[in-house]
Amino acid sequence: LTDEEQAVLDEIDDEGVDFLRLQFTDILGTVKNVSVPADQAEKAFTEGIYFDGSSINGFVRIQESDMRLKPDPETFAILPWRNDEESGAARLICDVINTSTGEPFEGDPRYVLQEAIDKAEEHGFEVNMAPEPEFFLFKTNEDGYATTEFADHGGYFDLAPKDLQSDVRREIIFTLEEMGFDIEASHHEVAQGQYEINFKYDDALSTADNVATFRFVVRAVAAQHDLHATFMPKPVPKINGSGMHTHMSLFKDGENAFHGEGDFDLSETALSYLAGILDHAPAITAVTNPTVNSYKRLVPGYEAPVYVAWSDRNRSALIRKPAAREPVATRIEARFPDPSCNPYLGFASLINAGIDGIERDLDAPDPIRENIYDFDEEKIEEYGIETLPKNLGDAVEALEADDVILGGLGDHVAEKFVEAKNEEFTDYLVNVSEWEIDRYLEKF
Ligand code: GLU
Ligand code: MG
Ligand code: MG
Repeated sequence: LTDEEQAVLDEIDDEGVDFLRLQFTDILGTVKNVSVPADQAEKAFTEGIYFDGSSINGFVRIQESDMRLKPDPETFAILPWRNDEESGAARLICDVINTSTGEPFEGDPRYVLQEAIDKAEEHGFEVNMAPEPEFFLFKTNEDGYATTEFADHGGYFDLAPKDLQSDVRREIIFTLEEMGFDIEASHHEVAQGQYEINFKYDDALSTADNVATFRFVVRAVAAQHDLHATFMPKPVPKINGSGMHTHMSLFKDGENAFHGEGDFDLSETALSYLAGILDHAPAITAVTNPTVNSYKRLVPGYEAPVYVAWSDRNRSALIRKPAAREPVATRIEARFPDPSCNPYLGFASLINAGIDGIERDLDAPDPIRENIYDFDEEKIEEYGIETLPKNLGDAVEALEADDVILGGLGDHVAEKFVEAKNEEFTDYLVNVSEWEIDRYLEKF
């Protein structure tokens, strides 16, 4: 056992943990877990825990279904809401190992992200990320099912008493802090019942782990208050949807490699990285905005991006350069990702695009400083601005045509992901919505 593994075993003893949840995510980003009695912890570290991968979405075929979970001791956390005098539970996030080869399973999203991080590292870069996941809190009905009735009627940065759910939010924050999160801010978002909680930047892998954890903690705490927390990108039409803006910077030798003399204090490295993301944006969208519903958020007028452009101030652009008080904080903010994405695959795609921009030494276009929502078609053309894919089908098509982004997912994930998303989009196409019935049934 390593020192870190031993420290986890000691903590399990000290804290009276009875059950360990061994977590990983499937290709669609759903957290899966296998629960084992805490006395299996040592074995989990030394031998790993075997499970049947064939029942996990997008993993393996029946005939090659044995997978092994290898817990990452750095991810140990007690689950505060499962902890009382009598019993306690903790979790460990795991890498998935292919038992027949003993190598990392290439269908494991955490591995896909690790590969992208390794690629950045080959250039001497360490990747830092900080996401801003937004979500809605809705009431549940008598049967406990989610409704789309807002949990409150507050608005942007409102305070209590209008912000009735600030107690729930406080409890969410305390719970996250108990699990090791460094919470920087939390506020009521623009829409009724909508919130945002920001946590401190970290290396890309830890941040992706944090997003996965964040989503299930928020849902678990909300459920204890008979509320449903949703990360669906656009649950209610004609009001703001939920994004997951992702702030990024590259560090080299302890210095922020994004800080420099270029436009808005950005370095050549930052501008090429940014240009790489703009260049691959349509394909990345399939991964960072992976549901049919994601494209209902990416429309003009609701602070979500539509156009492939960047800006230092404008919220209508795909990438924004937030103001930074000191060089260490210089970063770019990708505004298109939404919180329904698999954070491992989404971050991997952003990194692969950015590093490709650096490798090809791409130049960033001029920033757009006006509100692009107000541009007419002529002006969009004059500026040479592209738009994001309008639906999941177009995004998946762009993904299939992009070697860097598709290739970055690895053959296994690429194949399963495209297959799952094509199936999802086809299913949407063959369905008839309420909106169509309302609009056409009596008219024709
Ligand atoms: N909710 C908006 C979105 O869909 C973002 C609002 C903000 O700027 O924080 O991306
Ligand atoms: Mg926000
Ligand atoms: Mg933001």
